[in-house]
Amino acid sequence: MDLALQDKVALVTGGSRGIGRAIALALAQEGADVTFSYTSNEEAAQATIGAIEAAGGRASARRFDVKDPEACRAEVDALVKAKGSLHILVNNAGVALDGLLMRYKDVDLHRSFETNVFGPFYLARAASRAMMKAKWGRIIMLGSVIGEMGNVGQSAYAATKAALDGLTRSLARELASRSITANVVAPGYIDTDMTKALPDEARARLVEMIPAGSVGSPEDIAHTVAFLASERARYITGQVIEVNGGLHM
Ligand code: NDP
Repeated sequence: MDLALQDKVALVTGGSRGIGRAIALALAQEGADVTFSYTSNEEAAQATIGAIEAAGGRASARRFDVKDPEACRAEVDALVKAKGSLHILVNNAGVALDGLLMRYKDVDLHRSFETNVFGPFYLARAASRAMMKAKWGRIIMLGSVIGEMGNVGQSAYAATKAALDGLTRSLARELASRSITANVVAPGYIDTDMTKALPDEARARLVEMIPAGSVGSPEDIAHTVAFLASERARYITGQVIEVNGGLHM
């Protein structure tokens, strides 16, 4: 039986840990040839490769910073040269640098936008060339429930994630005629390093607000991404798909 992503080449940013690791694994399990990026955690990147290979998949890791436009362009070009094309781009790498507006530092504002918005822009720009040539493509952004709702202490993070919604809708309009879709998957609270930083009390209060009664798992997000990457989702584009246990609706 053919797998859903057989013969597809995928790039997932931030695949060493958390949601990105689960996405890389899910795409590989559907037959995609997966390359993922990371910045610092070599050990975690090797663990992701190990998990993918143990599941019978193919994966490689590349160390580069999505904040660097030259690196993004060079990495996509090298990938296309080595694999022949690039069909699926998942812009997952992101940072949440929290702080109240009045005390928020310029350096954190810049780092938030450079990582969460500029990086996805650079990579979508580079990848769209190969996708146009292939007349097939999937661009999937990791947004956030915070981008839809806003949150105290997360104005910069919320702004970056809301920016991704607008970017994605524009890409969807520009690229739809070439069978390239662009969508955002907006997670609610998912159990990863990013949310482990929350104190127990804050976490318990948060869970009370979620109709489903629990935080989500990285796999909840990965399954949605794998579906959007497949041919079955060909008619879904320009959408923000919220996966949040009902936290926002
Ligand atoms: P983690 O903090 O667990 O992992 C972040 C990943 O991004 C790591 O692999 C990290 O690499 C990589 N990364 C960070 N900065 C860069 C950079 N400049 N260039 C390349 N890679 C980078 O995050 P999550 O798995 O929790 O989140 C993944 C995405 O989902 C993010 O976009 C986040 O905003 C979004 N999200 C998460 C939610 C949650 O509840 N966890 C909720 C809503 C949205 P390394 O390990 O090498 O540093």
